Amino acid sequence: MINIVLFGPPGAGKGTQSDKIIDKYNLTHISTGDLFRKHLSEGTELGKIAKKYMDEGNLVPDDVVIKMVEIIISECIDCPGVIFDGFPRTVNQAIALDQMLEKFEETISGMILLEVEEEELINRILLRGKTSGRTDDQDLEKINNRIEVYKEETLPVANYYKSQSKLNTVNGVGSIDNIFSDICHVIDNLAE
Ligand code: AMP
Repeated sequence: MINIVLFGPPGAGKGTQSDKIIDKYNLTHISTGDLFRKHLSEGTELGKIAKKYMDEGNLVPDDVVIKMVEIIISECIDCPGVIFDGFPRTVNQAIALDQMLEKFEETISGMILLEVEEEELINRILLRGKTSGRTDDQDLEKINNRIEVYKEETLPVANYYKSQSKLNTVNGVGSIDNIFSDICHVIDNLAE
């Protein structure tokens, strides 16, 4: 299996690039944000728990996220590989992910960090908010909080993978196809 963590701040283009990656490499997409939004729209207990954190742009507690991912991983362990999008978002989640994969004698092949400047992120998220219907994309205060949470709680995850020599950075500014081509270059190297 090839297991990739697609990493970056909110608005970096993880969702857009994930769609292209899964098409080309036949990988399973695990997006914790999408999973929470599904639970929210279905009104499940998990959705109700996640809502209050998501509404403020804060992280859902680790134990809740990890339990949800554990179930999903066990269902897709026979697939060609997984692209993790929006997970792990804390070092605790990254450690838990390594432990989950270890049970299946699997590992993270590499992490791809999409780099985009803060001003560009805010513009992209506000633009997305016009069509996505996501309330957390429409309020500048919430957007700023998400970026702060990323810097404080999520960015240390990059160091976690760097210490395992798994960190790859890609410039997330430019045309979608050019960025995708840079990502493919990294994935092809990992797959060798
Ligand atoms: P996203 O679609 O990835 O931007 O996620 C939207 C929201 O879902 C985030 O602002 C968090 O509130 C929550 N969320 C998604 N993934 C995680 C995660 N791995 N850990 C904690 N909260 C998460």
